[in-house]
Amino acid sequence: MSTLPYIQTFAAVETAVATQPVPITSDFAIGRNDVVLMAGPCSVESYAQTRAAAEAVARVGGRVLRGGAFKPRTSPNSFQGLGQRGLEILRDVADEFGLLVITEALAVEHVPLVAHYADIIQLGSRNMQHYPLLWAVGELDKPVMLKRGFMSTIDEWLKAAEHISSRGNNKIMLCERGIRTFETATRNTLDTNGIALAKQLCPYPIIADPSHATGRADLVIPAARAALAAGADGLLVEFHPDPANALSDGQQSLPLGVLPQFVAEMRKITAVFNRNFT
Ligand code: PEP
Ligand code: MN
Repeated sequence: MSTLPYIQTFAAVETAVATQPVPITSDFAIGRNDVVLMAGPCSVESYAQTRAAAEAVARVGGRVLRGGAFKPRTSPNSFQGLGQRGLEILRDVADEFGLLVITEALAVEHVPLVAHYADIIQLGSRNMQHYPLLWAVGELDKPVMLKRGFMSTIDEWLKAAEHISSRGNNKIMLCERGIRTFETATRNTLDTNGIALAKQLCPYPIIADPSHATGRADLVIPAARAALAAGADGLLVEFHPDPANALSDGQQSLPLGVLPQFVAEMRKITAVFNRNFT
């Protein structure tokens, strides 16, 4: 009797590459049984706004605060971020609440500065194939989260990660943040296939970003559920104290008041897979 296709599929899953946890601090790693929340505003706008986000993240037991200080904006007339002041604010409020910081390095010349303030360096979708930037973070002993280019294949994404590891840094996480498809009703299309396949093909923890993948606050929770069901090891989610007045990505940001419900919803999904959500 010939092997049924679904049996071959299960065999492939069994021979998948094991996820290699990325140590962030001496007592915290990403890629273990706990699925990790990285939450906060799209952009650091002010001390008060970022502190409110940090307080809310800490209150639900979150470990990682996100926020952009150097912003890659489609229009040069949009808010470009507070730069170094934004990094100082992030570090200050994260330290106050015992959180870790993830923030983007937009350019090679920012790498030392961002590395000084951040616990995890984010490389953005538009920079996925910016090889000098990949080499620059590859020289560091610092965790890096590489977002998938919104027009990049999975193969290109994994090869971009190899540019980082080729310089010696293996503390790599990948982030699926939605790809551009023919669909225009949503900002991007969350590639849940890509999450599952990347987990099979490489040892890096996979993070999902349901905020940029959907571009709509009302779709963030459903997309996040799907990402966790596909095997994501973490979620990067935009939350803002006042989404209607956010300086970037307000339409896809959840209000901070939704954080407890968000975490409760995610725990229902991770429980099915015998994982925790923190
Ligand atoms: C972000 O995380 O705020 C961001 C700019 O993401 P991306 O690079 O995926 O567009
Ligand atoms: Mn954003």
